[in-house]
Amino acid sequence: MTTGFDAVVAGAGPAGSAAALALARAGRSVLLLERGEFPGSKNVSGAAVYSPDVLEALVPRFWESAPVERVLTRRVICVTSEESSVALDFSSRRFASPPYNAFSVLRPRFDRWLADQAVAAGAVLLCSTVADEVLRDGAGRVRGVRVRREGGEIAAPVVIAADGVNSFLARGAGLQRELTGHDLSLGVKEVIALDRHTLEERFQLEGDQGVTYEFLGSVTGGVAGGSFLYTNRESLSLGVIVEIASLAEHRVRPHELLERFRAHPTVAPLVRGGRLVEYSAHMVPEAGQRMLATLAGDGILVAGDAAGLCFATGLYLEGINYAIASGRAAGEAAADALAAGDTSAAGLAGYRRRLEERGVLPDFRRFRLAPRFVMGERIHGLYPGIVTGIAERVLRSEGGRPKQKLLPAVTGELRRAGVPLRRVLRDLWEGGRAFGW
Ligand SMILES: Cc1cc2nc3c(=O)[nH]c(=O)nc-3n(C[C@H](O)[C@H](O)[C@H](O)COP(=O)(O)OP(=O)(O)OC[C@H]3O[C@@H](n4cnc5c(N)ncnc54)[C@H](O)[C@@H]3O)c2cc1C
Repeated sequence: MTTGFDAVVAGAGPAGSAAALALARAGRSVLLLERGEFPGSKNVSGAAVYSPDVLEALVPRFWESAPVERVLTRRVICVTSEESSVALDFSSRRFASPPYNAFSVLRPRFDRWLADQAVAAGAVLLCSTVADEVLRDGAGRVRGVRVRREGGEIAAPVVIAADGVNSFLARGAGLQRELTGHDLSLGVKEVIALDRHTLEERFQLEGDQGVTYEFLGSVTGGVAGGSFLYTNRESLSLGVIVEIASLAEHRVRPHELLERFRAHPTVAPLVRGGRLVEYSAHMVPEAGQRMLATLAGDGILVAGDAAGLCFATGLYLEGINYAIASGRAAGEAAADALAAGDTSAAGLAGYRRRLEERGVLPDFRRFRLAPRFVMGERIHGLYPGIVTGIAERVLRSEGGRPKQKLLPAVTGELRRAGVPLRRVLRDLWEGGRAFGW
């Protein structure tokens, strides 16, 4: 068995690189393993990095050196039917200056940059190396990992599993339960190149500012989920994210959903003339609090998607910031435990404490009801049609007929959709519990 590292981190996504960076800065020897050819080579996100203060805590004024695409100053949330859409379009000039609110990034470049920060601080990065399973000592404590390489055992008193949503290490260590198609969604994504001038004119962007669109309703053809379109410097990232159980039930192929999304009358003009340069697919842990892993065991911590720390509530789709926050917390907790000479689950308890203090676990508790609520059939299948129907009744200009007041338009649409008012009131109550109070 090879020795010589204080810690091994599996996975050089945002969680793993943040963990390795924190450990290296604390003066610990750390090996960062990545199965891809380089960090980010296989990673998929929208990708908007929210809560930049989380990354700034690791790399001050990161936006000056990191490969960020655009500063996101506008967010459009769009409810669609087959023919129409209703949008909430929010923009703020306050989001355009430091410390900013969010950035769009391209993962192959962003992940590589973040892993480079860890390497610059002293971490050793080993790519094209898969961590297959955890190694245990006689007492059952995790003491390293087995890798798919010659001589493949690496010993370390602490392992950080940051190997993403399908974490063999967390499961192998008994910290993650078997996940179902209701816990996981599948994201399929395209990057479409568009010349900078056209893109900025089409989306009315000033300089490096950018916009994100999120869509709910007919764009997924009845499959539970939603879709997104984000602006990069000279490209668009667009994709559909749907619950795996619902996808199987509807027997639709993911790329058909993406085609449907691209052809929607609201979306087609936004992507017109673009050239497909990348296609990818990846799973998303979307069940929130319900699917969180046990965060620590003897000699092991679990961070990022591997722990289920991805926040998908309908209002938010955030995982990169939680991955960075949890990776950093795991790295710091591991460094403390190493200094105290106790890497048991109790010795690593500083991890959970940091996640509490820095607001990560409180977010998941606060919105614990939201993932199931937004995946409900009425939210993605029924109400978008009702909302666009109401808008059409109110906004259609027809001579020869008296104009409609709002309430009859609402009740008329509910009648057409066959939804009793008491059902709507119940959904409003459930929505309030999920998001409001
Ligand atoms: C389509 C889509 C859109 C999304 N949009 C957004 C968004 O806009 N904003 C946002 O914040 N989040 C978004 N997310 C969620 C976000 O991508 C994740 O939450 C985030 O990437 C989690 O980071 P991580 O480091 O935990 O895992 P990952 O990014 O998955 O990184 C895991 C790393 O581990 C490596 N690895 C895996 N197994 C092994 C192994 N056995 N040995 C060695 N290495 C291994 C992988 O190659 C990878 O580099 C989106 C996700 C998807 C799929």
